[in-house]
Amino acid sequence: MSSEHRQVAVITGAASGIGRGLAEQAARRGMQLVLADVDAAGLQALCATLQATGTQAIACVTDVGQLAQVERLRDVAVEQFGGVDLLFNNAGVMQTGYSWEISQAQWQRMLDINLTGVINGIRCFVPLLLSQGRAAHVINTASLAGLLSSPLMAPYNVTKQAVVALSETLHYELALLGAPVSVSVLCPGPVASEIMASNQVADAAGSSFSQLLDSSIRQGMTPTELAEVVFSAIDDKRFWILPHKDFKPALERRVQSIFEETNPVFQMTDVQGDAHASR
Ligand code: NAD
Repeated sequence: MSSEHRQVAVITGAASGIGRGLAEQAARRGMQLVLADVDAAGLQALCATLQATGTQAIACVTDVGQLAQVERLRDVAVEQFGGVDLLFNNAGVMQTGYSWEISQAQWQRMLDINLTGVINGIRCFVPLLLSQGRAAHVINTASLAGLLSSPLMAPYNVTKQAVVALSETLHYELALLGAPVSVSVLCPGPVASEIMASNQVADAAGSSFSQLLDSSIRQGMTPTELAEVVFSAIDDKRFWILPHKDFKPALERRVQSIFEETNPVFQMTDVQGDAHASR
């Protein structure tokens, strides 16, 4: 890699919220960007804004749940910029409701986007990153829900815990190979974004819970603050990224309950946290 090499970042779910914050931070760092999302209009708008400030960015409308579209995303990145340094598997959606009331189609949508989307990213991009023979980094956006289960969010908990497991496995595999490719798993608490707009009503309980989540997300960390934490962790090649420190006691309680084989007890602060203490 020459000293003039400008890093290339591929970001899924880039049109809004956390993905947009990551794209803006990557642009501030002078990276070349490949922005992916299903929201073509939002993607074009972000791309135009970044290009106006001198960033080399391209938009590639991509449904991360569709393997052929993620393959195309990789090919576009290579054609445009010659390779990839950072891959953010970030796109995701929300679903609330009792696990048994959530429809088969709603479960499938969550699995397709939140889990298969990350699997597709890994299967399409990791062989490319390995073939480049230079440092690269994969950042998978899970959630605190990847570490703590709350009621009324079953498909979200299931898919995010799978993303944590997948990320940890990938980290071990790349270490076994001695590959220069690092992995991080991002497990944020509430971050101000549009994610609750993707929630589909399954039942009345899910609808009430959704309102609570919505209010905690609106008061959450900003995507700009989050992106600073993420890029600093990437600089350190840190696997675990837990930007909301106030959730750590809940994590400790969970691990302790597993160790002691006592029954888990849910507390509302486990999902809402304290938006102010978390910074
Ligand atoms: P957001 O809704 O603001 O942004 C998500 C983006 O993903 C949207 O632009 C959306 O169009 C896109 N998207 C949805 N389905 C897609 C698909 N099939 N293919 C490609 N793009 C798709 O929400 P956000 O909060 O920024 O979410 C980003 C990630 O952060 C998600 O994985 C989410 O689960 C995770 N997360 C969010 C929070 C939070 O509090 N906001 C907390 C923890 C984790």
